[in-house]
Amino acid sequence: QGRRKRPRQGSMLFGPVRLEDREESSMSSHDRGHGIVDGIEGTIGNTPLIKIRSLSEATGCTILAKAEFLNGAGGSPKDRVALNMIQVAEQQGLLSPGGGDTIYEGTVGSTGISLAVLARARGYKAHICMPDDMAIEKSDLLHHLGATVERVPVAPITDPGHFVNLARSRAKEHTAASDTPSRGFFADQFESMANYTAHMKTTGPEIYAQTEGRLDAFVAGAGTGGTIAGVTKHLKEERGLASLKVVLADPQGSGLYNKIRHGVMYSSTEREGKRRRQQVDTMVEGIGINRITENFEVGRGLIDDAVKVTDEQACRMARWLVEHDGIFIGSSSAVNCVAAVVTALKMPRGSQVVTILCDSGTRHLSKFWKHIAAMGLEDETQEQDEDLLAVLG
Ligand code: PMP
Repeated sequence: QGRRKRPRQGSMLFGPVRLEDREESSMSSHDRGHGIVDGIEGTIGNTPLIKIRSLSEATGCTILAKAEFLNGAGGSPKDRVALNMIQVAEQQGLLSPGGGDTIYEGTVGSTGISLAVLARARGYKAHICMPDDMAIEKSDLLHHLGATVERVPVAPITDPGHFVNLARSRAKEHTAASDTPSRGFFADQFESMANYTAHMKTTGPEIYAQTEGRLDAFVAGAGTGGTIAGVTKHLKEERGLASLKVVLADPQGSGLYNKIRHGVMYSSTEREGKRRRQQVDTMVEGIGINRITENFEVGRGLIDDAVKVTDEQACRMARWLVEHDGIFIGSSSAVNCVAAVVTALKMPRGSQVVTILCDSGTRHLSKFWKHIAAMGLEDETQEQDEDLLAVLG
């Protein structure tokens, strides 16, 4: 693939990506904060890249975090994906507004929230299937957005009751029902190529523009793998940043770390054990999986390394960022930040490391932040954070 030409525009640093920079994108574009945007879709993308001062100071590198929680529809990078999946389906004639067409999705929450918002905005219904161990505020929010929500027991992906399989069969049942001419559309974020391409067309180009192409490492976790695949494909292949170090941030309990480091996920007995223990393996929501999805596969060969992050490290990082930077984030963002620090410490001083802040801590009050409080990390009398490296163990 040829390198895309982009006219340099004065100071692009921290500036918005302009409409004309997205020539290949099917997504609506806007200048965040620089004018009127057209509907809620117009608040998606062009998120700021925050220099995290405390982490930069502690590592001697520049740690930059893409504030994806500021996407204005559903408050996560899944806004980009949901919009692209809907637009592609509309272009393919699989969805048309106003006739009762319903979007079905299996999601741990973020994609469902983005789809529920955009369904409302564009004249569809949304039906979301999610595991019942996810924070309750996510399904509450989905209810308030008018989506139909099914919280289902955690099950292996081979089980028809797994949240993804259930969403797929619900969509089929809807289309097959003879009493309605409307259709069910299974968005299928794990396997749909409209997922990673949303990041390849928007998140990646934004990061390139915001850093003016000067970045040494990109660190991200994988839920579907869409973010790491799309951003990496843009930066390494379309922009030719061959020396960029791409690092997967993987929570405890996930099989992807082993896949990247050793080429295998688990032996079959280990895999069964993992499945049985799935609910207690990690409290991190949104990243970490025990299978290779199509979206992850797209980026797999471009990932250079992986960092395993424990729940305790993620909790301590989340607390650290509130205390030092006033940044209040959810669990997957905390995992990303731990891995960004570990990566930075192995790189020459002054390197630029980019990571993703996926969603806000407000999505995680009842689980992740409750646990942080129970660990005593919010106790002001605790002298627990003098040295970041000690904090991260
Ligand atoms: N963080 C959160 C909170 C998420 O919900 C997800 C998606 N499941 C991710 C990170 C991971 O993004 P991706 O699916 O692009 O790998």
